[in-house]
Amino acid sequence: MHSFIPLLVLYALITLASACTFYLSFRKHVDISGRYFLTAELATLAMLMLLILSYSMASMNQPSMLWLANVLALAADMAILFSMYSLERTVKFRQYLLALVFIMAYCLVIELLRTPDPKSPVLIYSIGTFVIACWTGFISFSIKDPELRNNPFIKCIKWTQVAIAAFALLRVASYFSSDLITPRQPSNLTTILFATYSALAIFRYISYQSLRISWVNPKVMDINPLNRNLALTIMEKDNLLRGLISSNRVLGISALSNSLAHQISQPLTAISLQAETLKRELSKDEANKPHLLVLDKISNQLNKLSQLVKNLRKLFNSRNYHFNEVELQPVCDEILEIIKPSLKSKKIRFVKQFTSNPRVLADSIQLQQVLINLFNNAIDAIEHSTSAVKEIRLTIATEDQWAVVSVEDSGCGIDEHALPHLFELYKTTKKDGLGIGLWLSKTILEKHQGTIHAANRPEGGAVFTFRIPLISPADE
Ligand code: ADP
Repeated sequence: MHSFIPLLVLYALITLASACTFYLSFRKHVDISGRYFLTAELATLAMLMLLILSYSMASMNQPSMLWLANVLALAADMAILFSMYSLERTVKFRQYLLALVFIMAYCLVIELLRTPDPKSPVLIYSIGTFVIACWTGFISFSIKDPELRNNPFIKCIKWTQVAIAAFALLRVASYFSSDLITPRQPSNLTTILFATYSALAIFRYISYQSLRISWVNPKVMDINPLNRNLALTIMEKDNLLRGLISSNRVLGISALSNSLAHQISQPLTAISLQAETLKRELSKDEANKPHLLVLDKISNQLNKLSQLVKNLRKLFNSRNYHFNEVELQPVCDEILEIIKPSLKSKKIRFVKQFTSNPRVLADSIQLQQVLINLFNNAIDAIEHSTSAVKEIRLTIATEDQWAVVSVEDSGCGIDEHALPHLFELYKTTKKDGLGIGLWLSKTILEKHQGTIHAANRPEGGAVFTFRIPLISPADE
């Protein structure tokens, strides 16, 4: 038996295992670089089978078989080159086919020169592999993307290419010496060298697969089954960063509004006090009654304004959860005072339907945050709707052991595709949306042992209903 056969069988088995692992990991999601790498593995496998057959059966030792084995080996090297190239750039399959035609012609030259000079195939073939190995190495060294360039496995591939080029150079040099490095005349040194070459090729398979697990293309965020978790984590990080930037902006605006509310509250108190003093003075004379009525109206408006500023400050100052026994109607009324002007300016009719005043254990500021989110979404949906009816209805009711609050709108309704994932983080259908509001609302309600549900209304528009447990006698 030819001493190379065990080596070739081992190499073929490892190549087969690697190709299977690669295919089964990617399945249909293999990208263009992966496809070229898989092509390289399959071509190598076919070439090894041919070599094994030609070493074990004399009838297979035909010029056409030798030609095919060389074509397959060079096609595999070329596919690796294309695989590395397409990690960053786009390549057309047409280009690979062109390279393949060139390789076939090149191998034909090898066979034509075999008869006059039996040593020449080693020289010409090795020059071919040297050029392809250097070219692949050059592509790997000139990778621009910093993430990819610094990936440890791309470094392994780079240096493997350098070693493979050095091996090809050694074979070229052997043409000029008496000890030709070819499997057809296996000396001990040749066997060791071929074993080293096979190890390098196998190392390149492992490096490439490890690269595909540890690297996510930041430009296209290609999620393949190998790097799925990593790609999702990176995507989540980017979204979190976006959310953080936006929260930071909101925090900045809140801080400004808080200081503005503080500055407004001082003159408001002073005006109220002065109005009260004026009222006291005017009330001494019966003739001032009409003026007193005007002053009462001014005081009423001032009280409303102070209440609004107080609510705003409470909302901005809230950081942590503070659970207290609260009645839902006043909690909703407070926030309605803030929202109503916006509804009025957008000509949206507001219907309030409070059939009970449930008492719940809640953080009123957080519940108000939920209502703000639901109202803002309802306003957005109405603005995107072509319907002539512009209406938001807020209902508070009691059902068994639950306080039930619902916000209905006559807007565009919830997108049917978005409905199953509506409360997930970063799910948004709006161009400038963040997809945080509903997720946050659900989180707040869960902290209240509550639930939230969304649906489309048969007559058009959406309805969001949340439930929180009523205070039970045991709590009291
Ligand atoms: P954002 O408002 O930033 O998109 P939200 O979490 O508040 O984030 O909402 C998520 C998505 O839910 C919205 O993009 C929208 O598609 C849908 N949605 C929420 N409220 C309504 C509503 N009242 N009518 C129709 N769709 C809604």
